[in-house]
Amino acid sequence: MLIDTHCHINIMIKKDFDVPLPQNFKELTTPLIEDCKHAGVTKIINVGTSVSESINCITLAQNYSTLWATIGLHPNDADENWKKDIESFKKLLQNPQNKIVGIGEIGLDYHYPDHNKIFQQTVFEAQIQLALDHDLPIVIHTRDAGQDVLNILETYKSEKLRGVIHCFSEDLAFAERAIALNFVLGIGGPLTYPKNNELRKVFTTVPLDTIVLETDAPFLPPQEMRGKKNNPANIKIIAHYLAKIRNISFETVAHTTTDTAEKLFKI
Ligand SMILES: [Zn+2]
Repeated sequence: MLIDTHCHINIMIKKDFDVPLPQNFKELTTPLIEDCKHAGVTKIINVGTSVSESINCITLAQNYSTLWATIGLHPNDADENWKKDIESFKKLLQNPQNKIVGIGEIGLDYHYPDHNKIFQQTVFEAQIQLALDHDLPIVIHTRDAGQDVLNILETYKSEKLRGVIHCFSEDLAFAERAIALNFVLGIGGPLTYPKNNELRKVFTTVPLDTIVLETDAPFLPPQEMRGKKNNPANIKIIAHYLAKIRNISFETVAHTTTDTAEKLFKI
C-alpha cells in the first residue's frame, strides 16, 4: 500500500485555477481514483493553495473515503485579502467532516522577481500559528528561500511543530536541520531527473522513516513520463526508484513511507 501525500486532483480535473470543481467532477475523479487503487495508491492527500482550491480539496475528501485535504495559502497565491482567508480557514477547521489533515501548502517563494519577502513571511508565520493552534502538521513550499524557511521554523520549534518539506530540493545540511525540527522530506518526480545527483545523495543518506512520497500531480511527472500530466498512481514509480537507489526492497519503501505518512497526518 502506498500514499500520495501531496497532489492536486482538484487542479488535474479543470483548466482554471481558483474556480469551483465542475458539476460532473465525479465522472473524472472516480476512474482516476480507481486507477490509483490498482497501482496500490490507496490513500491520497489533496493540498490546498488558496481558499477556493482548499474548498475543492475538501469537497473531494468528502466524496471519497480514501481522500483527505489540507488547507492553506501558497506564498504565490497570498494577496491583501490574506487575513480574511485565514478567517475562512478557521471556519473550515471547525467542521471535522471537512477531513482537514494539515495546513499547506504554505511557505516562502523568492523565485519571481516581484516577490515581497516581509509580506510572505508574515502570511507564512500566521499559518504556522494556525497549524499549531489546531495541532496539525504543516506542508511547506520553499523555493529559493531555504534559509529563511528554516530560520522561521526554528523560532516555532516545539512539541507540536511538525510537517513535511514538500518537493524537497535542498541539500543534506538543510535536510538535517528540517529533520531535527520534526519535519519529514517529501519526494516525487524530481528524484528521477538525470541532473539531480545531489538530491539522490540526500535521499540515500537520510533515515528511510523521514521520507514520504508525493507526486505533486499534475506537475513534476517522473522522468519516464516527462511531458505528460502527472498522476497520483505514479507514486508506484517513485517508490520503485527510491528502493533501487537505496538498494532495498520495494516493500520496505512502501511500508515505511506509508507508516510515516499515516502517523504524520493521522490518516
Ligand atoms: Zn503542490
